[in-house]
Amino acid sequence: MSNEEAGKPEQNPLADTHELISQEVPRGIDRRSFLMRSAIGGAAAVMTGCTATPEQRTATAAATAKPEAPAQSAPPLAADLNVVKKGQGPVLTTVDEFYKVGPGPSSSHTIGPMRITYDFYQRATKLPAAQLDKATKLQVNLFGSLSATGKGHGTERAALAGLIGNEPATVDPKFLDGLRDKPDQVFPVKLGNKSINVSLKDVIYDATKGDFKHPNTMTVKLLAGDQVLLEQEYYSVGGGFIEWKGYTPPKKNPPKYPFRLMKELRAHADTNKTTIAKIMLANEMSITGKSEAEVYAWVDKVINAMVATVKSGLAMPEDDVLPGPIKLHSKAATVYKRAMDDKFQSDRGIGVLSAFALAASEENGRGHLVITAPTGGSAGVMPALVYGLLEVRKVPMQKVREGMLAAAAVGYLCKHHATLSAAEGGCQAEIGVASSMAAALTATVFDADARVVENAAESALEHHLGMTCDPVAGYVQVPCIERCAFGAVKAWTAYAIASNEIASRHRVDFDATVAALAETAKDMNSKYKETSEAGLALSVTLC
Ligand code: SF4
Repeated sequence: MSNEEAGKPEQNPLADTHELISQEVPRGIDRRSFLMRSAIGGAAAVMTGCTATPEQRTATAAATAKPEAPAQSAPPLAADLNVVKKGQGPVLTTVDEFYKVGPGPSSSHTIGPMRITYDFYQRATKLPAAQLDKATKLQVNLFGSLSATGKGHGTERAALAGLIGNEPATVDPKFLDGLRDKPDQVFPVKLGNKSINVSLKDVIYDATKGDFKHPNTMTVKLLAGDQVLLEQEYYSVGGGFIEWKGYTPPKKNPPKYPFRLMKELRAHADTNKTTIAKIMLANEMSITGKSEAEVYAWVDKVINAMVATVKSGLAMPEDDVLPGPIKLHSKAATVYKRAMDDKFQSDRGIGVLSAFALAASEENGRGHLVITAPTGGSAGVMPALVYGLLEVRKVPMQKVREGMLAAAAVGYLCKHHATLSAAEGGCQAEIGVASSMAAALTATVFDADARVVENAAESALEHHLGMTCDPVAGYVQVPCIERCAFGAVKAWTAYAIASNEIASRHRVDFDATVAALAETAKDMNSKYKETSEAGLALSVTLC
């Protein structure tokens, strides 16, 4: 029934721009931002069939429009951050730093902040007893993207969990769910002889714009009244990696086969008549001093955790509703069921791969444990391929282990020369890198030579360049969950193309595409870097 049939005047916000332009802009609100939000809200309402009145749209636009001050573009990253300097030396990242287990939905907004507050708590415990005796309060301030989209990510819950001694790999997701359901809980934090009560009120959503060293900046303080006993500024630099003011990276042993670029890594493999995975294994052992068995023991843990997230996601009931205001219904179980129906056998490959990615990504949306590969938002991509190769294709575990090492090389190089942080580079840095890693994994599992592994990774990354990050309502659900399915399918497509072309004819090398990723990240408007200020975050009307 149309509005007219229902006795209401038909409202078409696209028909008469006079109505839009003549709207009174509330005081203190940027006019352009207000009109844009009002117009887009109206257009989205028409397209989606939502029946928001002009007054409701005005209220929504006013509530979500920017304040009058002109929007600042994101400041450049501080030159002294290790995450900026890192591209100069050889790659020294290791698998236990890279693949991290922790609660979703975002490695930079949940795992990073939890690691940060846990780190601060450890530092605070080392203060002299006389100082600790004076302590009255612990306080966390979130800035930049952590403040802009932290609420949707549950950053305050993650930060509080770290402050009271939880680590991402071992925290019980039910504890975080409990904080969401009962936000007034108070917890004692033991510091020397003192016990300080902390709650979510001690985590403050502070300025979203400013001259920060990194868009994901936060401070943690131990106070005695107004007196600061200990304060540290931290940065959650993507993929769950953290730094702080004055950070120097830990000293590491030199790698057996040093490389800065994929070109150099591939040359090591070719010269030694071996694979990228074997070169990565040798480097891992020389950098960490671990044995082959110890390296693979960690890789096995990561593989098993990935399989577990897909299994638990598939086991959730059809149409489970994910937490948050979007009220997004889960799809993994339904997509899997249809793919396995013999009536749709020809769709099966893409159907099950998509279902596996949806399953792991929905687990991330629920805030359950996921694996950063390279991030939480992209945590459905690699598990989809790992699960499909192991559980459906039944490839040997050793092949998948080697695939994980080749995939890690791809992630390391993207981290080394570009970014894994959506707040720095948009979604190309998350889903794009994840898809590229998954393509390298797949090519390695099927014994492709080094050039084909590189080409597959290049192709998957290339076709995500420019992809923005605009999570609706700040929740890592729309577009993130489906985007993981697309990232997984694109990884397979990249492998299919790379393994069927003459490898030497591939015209774009991986290093060039990583350079493009870095440049695109720098040029991308800050509205599209995990701030929920534009794109889908603006055009989707929740009703
Ligand atoms: S849009 Fe992409 S980068 Fe942004 S939160 Fe979602 S998955 Fe992460």
